[in-house]
Amino acid sequence: MASDDARLSDWAKNISPSPTLAVDSKAKALKAEGKDVCGFGAGEPDFDTPNFIKQACEEALRAGQTKYCPAPGLLALRKALVEKYERDNAMSGIDFSQVVVSPGGKYSCYLAILATCGPGDEVIIPAPYWVSYPEMVKLAGATPKTIFAGDDQGFKMTPDQLRNAITPATKLVILNSPSNPTGAIYTPSEIEALVEVVIEKDILLMSDEIYEYLLYDGAKHLSPASISKEAADRTITVAGFSKTFSMTGWRLGTLVAPPAIAKAVASIQSQTSSNATTFAQFGALAALENPDAAKAAIDSMLAVFDKRRIKLLDGLNAIDGITCQRAQGAFYLFPNIKGLGMDSTSFASKLLEEKLVAVVPGIGFGADDYMRLSYATSDEVIDKGLERLTDFCANLG
Ligand SMILES: *Cc1c(COP(=O)(O)O)cnc(C)c1O
Repeated sequence: MASDDARLSDWAKNISPSPTLAVDSKAKALKAEGKDVCGFGAGEPDFDTPNFIKQACEEALRAGQTKYCPAPGLLALRKALVEKYERDNAMSGIDFSQVVVSPGGKYSCYLAILATCGPGDEVIIPAPYWVSYPEMVKLAGATPKTIFAGDDQGFKMTPDQLRNAITPATKLVILNSPSNPTGAIYTPSEIEALVEVVIEKDILLMSDEIYEYLLYDGAKHLSPASISKEAADRTITVAGFSKTFSMTGWRLGTLVAPPAIAKAVASIQSQTSSNATTFAQFGALAALENPDAAKAAIDSMLAVFDKRRIKLLDGLNAIDGITCQRAQGAFYLFPNIKGLGMDSTSFASKLLEEKLVAVVPGIGFGADDYMRLSYATSDEVIDKGLERLTDFCANLG
């Protein structure tokens, strides 16, 4: 009889599990043993979903919205998303048929890649990157090509780097602004310069805008698809409700794409998952139909995040051997730990074992000189975690 391993497909043999979830589960296991863990690993807001969103979902559930709905999403939600993209993102001329609601933004990303990339195609991914992009590209049978953009360039790929990485096999480039893991934001003019290259070379762009509303220091978000018709014709915009409204467990992602791509995405989804949970979509609809309540919820979350961001940033920069950029988006900081003379995996595991502080090693994001800390955690955890981290680093040498 063949061994279990031998029965796996080449796809399965090649895929690695998400390292961010791995750290989180190790920290949770220690916590469950009663250990006092300071967790900076979380990839989700630590707030509850706003009440008005939960209520709309509850009402839908009670009203019997418990059946399948159209695979690409509730018609009302797709139409509300068109309005949102026109109102908040300055996109124009979108038809609701170009909008697909999926079970999570992660799945929206995967569908966008599957619908456009296959064997022989190359996908350009700026590093530090979100852990799942290269794996999704490999699952589609295509080849990830990473470009490194370190803290010396604000973690941002330059137009020249992009142009030089493009080959005749390049199909797609992935942008994620604000970024997970770095929190970096491309300014509107930086986005415009990259989009110019995309148009000039006639490749596709997947713009992952899941953190579009989580901005600090007055930073501005620009959706590439809003720049021009040429830009919109080449851009797949992915976003969702998880990060904006603390709805990670609801599993609701969104995608806007040129008509043929949106249609292919909807077809793949109809054959693989069908619709995102029907009654959950009514909660998302409430979020879009009540922009004032939505804005109040986002603003109160942002005010808290912003204070923690500065506290953590200052604390990290006060530690010898650590330097940290002032990230202006999402809820992550991505300090450079090269000065400590350890690779990120050894650093993170030693830190967790000795000081019960959970961070995510940078290597999973393609950047071994760094670690990711999420400040979607309490002030107490940040204070205590910084104390322990300072202590740990002081005793390293
Ligand atoms: C969280 C996240 C997503 C999607 O999250 P879902 O929970 O699947 O909606 C997509 N891209 C990035 C970069 C993320 O951090």
